[in-house]
Amino acid sequence: MDTNNIKISAKQKLRYRRLTNEKVEEIQKLVKDGLSLRATARKTKVNYSTVHLHAKQFAKRQSVLDFSVFSEKELGYVVGFYVGDGSRIEEKRSGHFGAKFALDAKNDLDIASLLQTLFEKSGKRVTLYSVGSWLTMKVYSKSLLKILQGYVEYVIDNEGKHKVLVNPSVWSRDFTLGFLGGIIDADGHVLKNKRRIGHFGAVIVTANPKLARQLVKLIIGLGLETTVGKAQPGITSFGKSPNYFIRLGKAEFSKVCKDLVCIKHGRCGCDTKPF
Ligand SMILES: [Zn+2]
Repeated sequence: MDTNNIKISAKQKLRYRRLTNEKVEEIQKLVKDGLSLRATARKTKVNYSTVHLHAKQFAKRQSVLDFSVFSEKELGYVVGFYVGDGSRIEEKRSGHFGAKFALDAKNDLDIASLLQTLFEKSGKRVTLYSVGSWLTMKVYSKSLLKILQGYVEYVIDNEGKHKVLVNPSVWSRDFTLGFLGGIIDADGHVLKNKRRIGHFGAVIVTANPKLARQLVKLIIGLGLETTVGKAQPGITSFGKSPNYFIRLGKAEFSKVCKDLVCIKHGRCGCDTKPF
């Protein structure tokens, strides 16, 4: 008889210690409700392999996000969109991490579809749901959150919590072009004229003065000229801080528009492909 094998099976038995039926049901219910296996293990104080044994079949497949399939421009686009309309998912208790994007359910389905295509290309399924006129896209991925944090961080000042860019001066040109397209899709407009196709420039709106300064530097870094306007919030506006309008005139925007990943630019009828 091989004593080695006996040792191993004794060890296995110890790991998969017997649980009461109630405990097994509790674990299975948590996993069925969407909690990850690891979070369920922490919550029920049962070790991971035991939880895995009893509830694996109920777990939502946790797909892995593979960013190597993204081009620099595509990654830049995701970061740009996140700066404009994204927020962190950081639910330490349930073990959920990732990013959440808020879109206009009526007007931005094409943008949602681009984001969804990008994430699915990287092997990650996204959760979409709409509440009223909002479409929320959730991407559960710790690695996504980590990557985003390499480009964007939160600072707290007396006006609240703001996103600021991390070391934008070292970003590549392609990444920066992707970023610009993403932030225009989230927080900007491509200016149009009803009677003619094409665009009349673009504008990015932000209430965050530090981000506004960083955007101006990025745009100058692309070799473009830009102007910044400042407007006090209207009476109906919720915020107290003024809005900054970072404008790119028609001629300046035309120098890069064909190199952008930008759905709002694609909508203007300017002869170009987003990829
Ligand atoms: Zn154009």
